[in-house]
Amino acid sequence: MHLCHTVRTMNTLNRRSFLAVSSTGLLTLPAFSMPHLLGQPLKDPGTAGDNHRGPCVIASGNGLAATDKAMSLINKGMDPVDAVVAGVSLVEDDPNDMSVGFGGLPNERGVVQLDSSVMHGPTHKAGAVGALEDIRSAARVALDVLKKTDHVMIVGQGARDFALAQGFEPQNMLTDKARQAWLRWKANLSPNDDWLDDIQRDIKDPAGDLSLASTIPFTWGTINCSGLDSNGNLASVTTTSGLSYKIPGRVGDSPIVGAGMFCDNDIGAAGATGRGEAVIQNCGAFSVVQHMASGKSPTEACLAVLKRIASRTRQKRLLNARGQPNFNVMLYALRKDGAFGAAAMRGKRTFAVHDGKQNTLHTAPSLY
Ligand code: ASP
Repeated sequence: MHLCHTVRTMNTLNRRSFLAVSSTGLLTLPAFSMPHLLGQPLKDPGTAGDNHRGPCVIASGNGLAATDKAMSLINKGMDPVDAVVAGVSLVEDDPNDMSVGFGGLPNERGVVQLDSSVMHGPTHKAGAVGALEDIRSAARVALDVLKKTDHVMIVGQGARDFALAQGFEPQNMLTDKARQAWLRWKANLSPNDDWLDDIQRDIKDPAGDLSLASTIPFTWGTINCSGLDSNGNLASVTTTSGLSYKIPGRVGDSPIVGAGMFCDNDIGAAGATGRGEAVIQNCGAFSVVQHMASGKSPTEACLAVLKRIASRTRQKRLLNARGQPNFNVMLYALRKDGAFGAAAMRGKRTFAVHDGKQNTLHTAPSLY
């Protein structure tokens, strides 16, 4: 296959179906057999967290620094909502994480638009921002919406104006690395437009290395982080630059309370990463918390919601030859007593946990 076509196919796939992975599932079990529950142990069950009790911080696999920071602040007596936001802010500030905050991949016009939501268990208050431009820390702005307004969600220009009024400094959010990845994506969109790809160029651009297309990830990102202190108080936050090269103004699950994260101080907290559209359509984080309320362990609750997402995925382009979702979603759960768990739709995925003693990555069970 022509290289240019291969790259274009990859980009189209990543843009349209987002997070699509190989059709070769790791497990060949039917959608929701939950083998560990049927007495057939998973190779790497990753369910030990269901037995944990006490203070805990859980995050997506890119959140090891965030869990460490949040737990150290919780140990010093900080409110979990401030602790988890301080934790994810480290990742937002990191230009090497191209799925969150500064350095995140832009929308199709080359503009970085951030989404975030945060929820505080004790007050049951939430704050969120969507399509926020020019501001580095969407999570901190979402926390200001929670603390300083009577609203839950502010989007677009209003979110930017709100952040500036709070004293956030505007800045160019598009790093050189992200800009090059965006230009590469544009160059491979169509053979008939005015953008020359590497094959068509007469003069090679030394910065335009084709390997960029394979080395720069087409966003698998977002960070969710939930925390529990020794008083049983919970909080959760999710922050992202969202789907790379999205239609301007597209908002995913991350800033949607009940989808990208949710927290109920009587029950637990949950969050999601992956294909936001699927998470929104199934009220992902809220559903995980509801399953914990009805007695499921955190891991079981995540698997139950993934099963629902799988069974409600009916568009052919989102299904592989086996009828399984060809995209990924990962869910994270933290119960009020400190039990924690996570699960992925597909493949071997990790999540970060500080259990009060250790800060480590765990492998999550998956449906496929
Ligand atoms: N859930 C995010 C979104 O759809 C993306 C991600 O988690 O990578 O915007």
